[in-house]
Amino acid sequence: MTKHIFVTGGVVSSLGKGLTSASVGMLLEQSGLSVRMQKLDPYINVDPGTMSPYQHGEVYVLDDGSETDLDLGHYERFTHGPLTRDSNYTTGQIYLNVIEKERRGEFLGKTVQVIPHITNEIKSCIAAIAEDDVDVVITEIGGTVGDIESLPFMEAIRQFSLDVGKENCLYMHLTLVPYLKAAGELKTKPTQHSVGLLRQIGIQPDILICRTERSLAADDREKIASFCNVPVQHVIEEKDKDFSIYEVPLSLVENKLDSIIIKQLGLKRKPLNLEKWRDLLHRLRNPETELSIAVVGKYAEHKDAYKSIYESIDHAGMENHAQVRIGSIQSEVIERDGPERVLSGYDGVLIPGGFGERGTEGKVEAIRWARERAIPFFGICLGMQCAVIEFARNVAGLEGANSTEFDKNTSHPVIGLLDEQQNITDKGGTMRLGAMDAKVLAGSRSLDCYGSQKVSERHRHRYEFNNDYRQQLQDAGLTIAATSEDGSLVEIVEIADHPWFVAVQFHPEFKSKPTEAHPLFSGFVQAAARRTQSK
Ligand code: GLN
Repeated sequence: MTKHIFVTGGVVSSLGKGLTSASVGMLLEQSGLSVRMQKLDPYINVDPGTMSPYQHGEVYVLDDGSETDLDLGHYERFTHGPLTRDSNYTTGQIYLNVIEKERRGEFLGKTVQVIPHITNEIKSCIAAIAEDDVDVVITEIGGTVGDIESLPFMEAIRQFSLDVGKENCLYMHLTLVPYLKAAGELKTKPTQHSVGLLRQIGIQPDILICRTERSLAADDREKIASFCNVPVQHVIEEKDKDFSIYEVPLSLVENKLDSIIIKQLGLKRKPLNLEKWRDLLHRLRNPETELSIAVVGKYAEHKDAYKSIYESIDHAGMENHAQVRIGSIQSEVIERDGPERVLSGYDGVLIPGGFGERGTEGKVEAIRWARERAIPFFGICLGMQCAVIEFARNVAGLEGANSTEFDKNTSHPVIGLLDEQQNITDKGGTMRLGAMDAKVLAGSRSLDCYGSQKVSERHRHRYEFNNDYRQQLQDAGLTIAATSEDGSLVEIVEIADHPWFVAVQFHPEFKSKPTEAHPLFSGFVQAAARRTQSK
């Protein structure tokens, strides 16, 4: 029988539910259990793919091409269970499923209602990933208890334990215990209120994870335990981490969270193996070198917009015993102040993916600067497209070269719409999405990094390298380092007489893990480290 852990949040949003859920998943996996993770988001968009990064942070893409919440990035980085379309549902998707069933007449003349039809649909989405070989499903509910829009999800998870048996479900509630300066003490009342709200809905949490900036005193724990009706050992402190998010799982273990979960769900475990994790923290604490990378993007001021990029750089840093300082730079600042002023001092420049014209000229200038000064450069998706534009304009002499995304009438459309996109008008879920194989060519820098000619990487784009310019740009010195299997689509470009200039059409940042850095990120950070050392 698969066991279920439901994770809810209270008091405020942004408590790090995703990270805590992922950490719990990791601890259970490292105890020999098979774990599946899932996020249920109460908003009405069918998926986050159509949302601005300002609203929602990065859109995380899975192998199967689904565009999902960025918490799934935490899940994939911390655990190994497969994530699919079933791993992330929104209210919009749930309603869409129910409405489609209604149109097909599947409700046999009944009035279709939130309870039971919407709640049944939610429950079936949870049950869908509880396959026979899965020991534990962790389902995180987005939003904060008390939100109107999350009510059907709360009702569904309440009913779920009636359906599968109370002994098979565990409710974990994340809450905030704020420190009030004026009073000089931690305050437990918000936690009491938020658990009160949960209990009104009919959910008695089993475990409380208390996010706090100061340690909880025994009194605080006892007060929370008694007002919230949980055993005092089940009041788990999760203190803010100044150093690294990778400390979270270890601090949960110190508070015995793994043992409490295992015992309550009656699971059988192997001894917890955190060797790799401790090793990565050790490397993080004892760097042998320091370097800095500039990430030049349109949404640089938003900390979640390039989440997986920042994390992948960190992974590569840990792998290479390097402490990496990341500078988030808005590309429009480069347009205003020039690359010299903004980028001098950095050991590497990375341009991530993006959409729309704003800031693209600043990216092109940044790339020129990195190319001409032999600064390691890594372009990703739009970053690759901008690298092709820069090379076409400034090396191949194709004046006015551009992407048709930014200038429909450009004299040299070196980047154009993919053929398969020509007649697509809907915006949701219609890009070239998900994992696709690429052939990496012999003699390329990318092959040195991957060590394999066949790779699978995730995509999310509508535009591509225009093959009409392939020969001309190659003749001018651009290396086509990888293509799609059939050779038709350019996947990686490089510049051979540059210390490290690699630009990819796909998103390697979705396949990097703290304990297994992505080979291209690792190669990039190594090149940046070589540059620092040679300074
Ligand atoms: N806007 C570009 C395209 O659609 C790049 C997309 C991206 O960077 N994810 O092709």
